[in-house]
Amino acid sequence: MNQSKLNKLLSKLPIAKVKYFDSIGSTNDEALAWAANDAKDLSLVVADEQTAGRGRLDRKWFTPPGTALAFSLILRPSAAERPHISRMVGLAALSVSDSLLTRGLSPQIKWPNDILLNGRKVAGILIESVWSGEDAECIVIGMGVNILKGAVPDKDMLLFPATSLEDALGYPVERAEILHEILAALIFLRPQLSTDEFMAKWEELLAYRGRQVQVELVGEGSVIGNVSGLGTDGSLQLNDPDGKSLTVQFGDVHLRPFA
Ligand code: ATP
Repeated sequence: MNQSKLNKLLSKLPIAKVKYFDSIGSTNDEALAWAANDAKDLSLVVADEQTAGRGRLDRKWFTPPGTALAFSLILRPSAAERPHISRMVGLAALSVSDSLLTRGLSPQIKWPNDILLNGRKVAGILIESVWSGEDAECIVIGMGVNILKGAVPDKDMLLFPATSLEDALGYPVERAEILHEILAALIFLRPQLSTDEFMAKWEELLAYRGRQVQVELVGEGSVIGNVSGLGTDGSLQLNDPDGKSLTVQFGDVHLRPFA
């Protein structure tokens, strides 16, 4: 990947501008700074390597050079999109999933922000915002996707097992092709953000549906229940062992299959 290859690759998509880095701390940090400045809707930051890639709550996301996809897309939500900002993580998750589905794979969305292949994490999403008063002026959608085997961190660095597209497919794929597919899917799906069909697609790919999971609400204990679906805001709906329904809001949560 380099700047001119990316410019050419993405020229048929309505991407405003692409900034490419051989190495960067975090693409989200760069995108947030750009968003706070003059970035237009659909501006993109792409890096070959992140040296300080972030997950939620400043947990680390590893992006070794030459093997992974790391990018951050800046959106300036329209007035119609603003009431549905909490669905942006679903938009990102469905876009990655779409690319994997077209390759014959069976992605699942581990609520709220990870994509699994064969029960292992292949991609992570980090959504951050630039606020203007009560409104999200800009949304930054950060994604890390393990494309080649070399992108998968060592087991002892992980809290949840990981995999790569190469592992799942049995052969290597081009990072740039996957980037193009994810962005094309996101641009196609974005107008559906407010619809019930969008929520249905998201729910359909939810990992552990109908299965018992434990959700650790960091600092506030944990809940156990069967995954029943999603609320209209993208919150997770569970049925607890007494049949009572529970709603888990976005936040510092860890979801794990139970038993
Ligand atoms: P969990 O997976 O425990 O539910 P999480 O979804 O909250 O955690 P994030 O904050 O989204 O995790 O991502 C950070 C975590 O992802 C790290 O703590 C690490 O365990 C894992 N991780 C970091 N880099 C990668 C990678 N390239 N591939 C897969 N997993 C990774």
